[in-house]
Amino acid sequence: MRLSILQPHPHPHRIKRWPRIDASSFHRRKDKVVVIMGATGSGKSRLSIDLATLFPSSEIINSDKMQVYRGLDITTNKIPPAQRRGVPHHLLGDVDTDHHGEFSPADFRHRAADLIADITRRKNLPIVVGGSNSFVHALLVQNFDPHSHSNVFQQQGLISSELRYMCCFLWVDIALPVLSQYLRDRVDDMLNSGMVDELAQFFDQDAARRTGFGLRKAIGVPEFDRFFNKYPPSMSQGDDPLRESAYQEAVRAIKDNTCELAERQIGKIERLKRAGWDLRRIDATEAFRGVLTSGSDVWERQVLEPSVKIVKRFLRE
Ligand code: ATP
Repeated sequence: MRLSILQPHPHPHRIKRWPRIDASSFHRRKDKVVVIMGATGSGKSRLSIDLATLFPSSEIINSDKMQVYRGLDITTNKIPPAQRRGVPHHLLGDVDTDHHGEFSPADFRHRAADLIADITRRKNLPIVVGGSNSFVHALLVQNFDPHSHSNVFQQQGLISSELRYMCCFLWVDIALPVLSQYLRDRVDDMLNSGMVDELAQFFDQDAARRTGFGLRKAIGVPEFDRFFNKYPPSMSQGDDPLRESAYQEAVRAIKDNTCELAERQIGKIERLKRAGWDLRRIDATEAFRGVLTSGSDVWERQVLEPSVKIVKRFLRE
């Protein structure tokens, strides 16, 4: 793998150990939740695993609206089981589109709240991680209105800052030009890891039912549907320049759409901050620039250490 920033720390024993902190041993008014936010590809999963390694009673709740569904693990960038280091993950590939239909922000609020209650009851620390800000908003606000919620980021004044948990928000932020370059390279890595085969299988299985929602909205599906409609997976590949240019067009569209998604997600996070959410911004730009240019890893110093300090302070409050 050429780019390693999204993988958890390769040598966990080398991370400076902080004393074990039992999240349950502190007096609470509301349940405590750590929330890791950031655009797609910003290293949230890596940070969540690194933190869970240092705060060993942690459990992760996924808040990426495509990763909740079963299937398309490469296309949606689910953290592979081998990199989860035994940390329990919830709502990661648990939902079956065919059986459950679209998983809405209201569904997420309901399911994730049950998980938080259960994790807290077991005296563990819930860490919510994912890029879907509509899910995060739905889960955390005190008063949730499913009708106005679909416009929450479109209209002024709909974002509530009254939250039903004590939240520690970590926002992993990366300068957009650096993140965009990283995301484009990541798409190439995903293609090399079998993304086209995965999408071809999904296309075949899905042909009869064409639901038009759920996992079908994942970036990669519509772009390659257009390609497979012209060049079905069963067709022999041959040496066709038109096919090659249609393939390159699909890849270009995925890269562009991923970069646009990242920009929209950052815009939503900034709106949450302006609305009064106490987001602690951690600038990971240098860590990413290091990976893109020299391969060096300044993640630990620039991202992990400040995050650990913030979480430790939060747990003591
Ligand atoms: P929106 O209201 O625009 O859906 P959101 O905050 O609810 O925003 P986002 O995570 O920003 O959710 O996802 C928006 C869209 O981006 C999804 O509908 C999907 O098309 C795409 N997307 C999000 N996450 C992924 C992913 N992991 N893999 C592929 N596509 C994704």
